[in-house]
Amino acid sequence: HAPAHFRALLELSRSHGEQVFLAYEDEHITFEDHFRRAATLARRLVDEYGVRKGDRVGVAMRNYPEWVISLSAALAAGAVAVPLNAWWTEAELGYGVSDSGAKVLIADGERAARLASTGVPLIVARGEVPDGARAFDEVMGEIAADVRLPDVELRPEDPATIFYTSGTTGSPKGALGSHRNLGQSPMTVSYGFVRAMALAGKDAAAGAGVRRVTLLTVPLFHVTGCFSALTTSMFGGGGLVLMYKWDAGQALRLIERERVTGMIGVPTNAWQLMSHPDFGKHDLSSLSSLGYGGAPAPPKLLERITRNLPNRAPSNGYGMTETTALAIGNGGADYHARPDSIGRPVPVVDVRVVDPAGAELPAGEVGELCLRGPNVIMGYWNKPEATAQTFVDGWLHTGDLARLDDDGFVYIVDRAKDMVIRGGENVYCAEVEAALFDHPAVDDAAVIGVPHEELGEEVGAVIRLVPGASLATEDLTSFLGDRIAKFKIPVHFWFREDELPRNPGGKILKTHLRREILGA
Ligand code: ATP
Ligand code: MG
Repeated sequence: HAPAHFRALLELSRSHGEQVFLAYEDEHITFEDHFRRAATLARRLVDEYGVRKGDRVGVAMRNYPEWVISLSAALAAGAVAVPLNAWWTEAELGYGVSDSGAKVLIADGERAARLASTGVPLIVARGEVPDGARAFDEVMGEIAADVRLPDVELRPEDPATIFYTSGTTGSPKGALGSHRNLGQSPMTVSYGFVRAMALAGKDAAAGAGVRRVTLLTVPLFHVTGCFSALTTSMFGGGGLVLMYKWDAGQALRLIERERVTGMIGVPTNAWQLMSHPDFGKHDLSSLSSLGYGGAPAPPKLLERITRNLPNRAPSNGYGMTETTALAIGNGGADYHARPDSIGRPVPVVDVRVVDPAGAELPAGEVGELCLRGPNVIMGYWNKPEATAQTFVDGWLHTGDLARLDDDGFVYIVDRAKDMVIRGGENVYCAEVEAALFDHPAVDDAAVIGVPHEELGEEVGAVIRLVPGASLATEDLTSFLGDRIAKFKIPVHFWFREDELPRNPGGKILKTHLRREILGA
């Protein structure tokens, strides 16, 4: 059974008792300890800050244990938790605070400095406490062994969280998720995990019986961190290893030290782990699964995992902020057979592909991917128009172009907003990028539309070569000529040495690239 709301999940997690829940550097916090701290803070929020059911409580921190405790406390107090993007500037944080109407903010020192100007009561963990704010430990005060959760009645349909979308295609939207969305997340994610393990063969499947210890390589303020990792660990009694920020060398050390069984993050994390000079110097025998998603995973990544980390279960998960993390996933034998597919929906999710008029398309045809299920959020906070456009008759319109095959596997073709239209022909950036990735000298690539008077747009590619490699444009275009139609081959190339700009969700920031390169 999925917990009906967060308090049920929190009570259940307490039964994991003295097992380690959170590991951060030298700190190890058990499930019992987490429960007591969360319950204590929940009481303070109610008693000292006047937080009532439905009030918003903002959380703005790095991946510290206090992030988890604050989220748990806010939810247990009946508030709507608002995880704010820790990478945001002062102005962006200000937008998140005023958009959500947060009543209290819990932040780390670095974020606190950027939040002080909002005038909202501030609780500060780790770091300097600005004037007028209070320190986290001082607010907590004494933590009693018999502390009880404050009295609040929660129902599955009550709002629980506002997560901001990544803002890849526009400004970030607040995704309002219910307690039911949150409560079912461990089921959806565990199903995806168990299926990936089962399909990966017996060596990897044996790992499924071991207590899970997950290394989280992405921020908790996006759904992958909070739901694919956090709520799922709470539910199953698994450990969660937190990092201050992503660092491949540190990840290798942590896998060995904490006996990590699975890593959850974005495709680039897995790629960079295997590229690190210390890869091979650490004991990674505990690691049985590598889960990644949130951004396109090139088939080359699967090949590399198969070679460098054999007998593990790699899996590619597709999800959105609007789907409370995982919705569609590919793993094991399925993944090897169809490395370019994001797999099949988890059982509670229905998918269909529709034309611009909303009519369902048959397998093989490209249209907009739509999803339905208990993980689909309630709508966008404060944005009735965007809500009405995106959530139509119970179906979430993803903004992603996709096709299905006859066996129900889903292939993401492109983001609708990324597609280049060259002289009336659709060119899917993701397809061109995949062809570029096939070239051994290409380390990273992004395809963008370049305005053209006659054709409307032409295809351009920004490429980062593997360090030390060189590549002539003609050689690359002839390589592409064997893979994709002529009209899709880029006519503009920009080679660069720097990493391509990515957000913490692993997505290339194409709006930045376009501005940088085209000034548009
Ligand atoms: P915004 O909606 O603000 O423009 P965003 O869509 O990037 O930002 P998220 O909710 O973080 O915000 O990301 C969801 C999107 O990420 C999906 O719509 C899809 O385009 C992409 N995505 C997620 N998982 C995968 C995957 N496994 N493969 C390919 N694309 C993926
Ligand atoms: Mg989106």
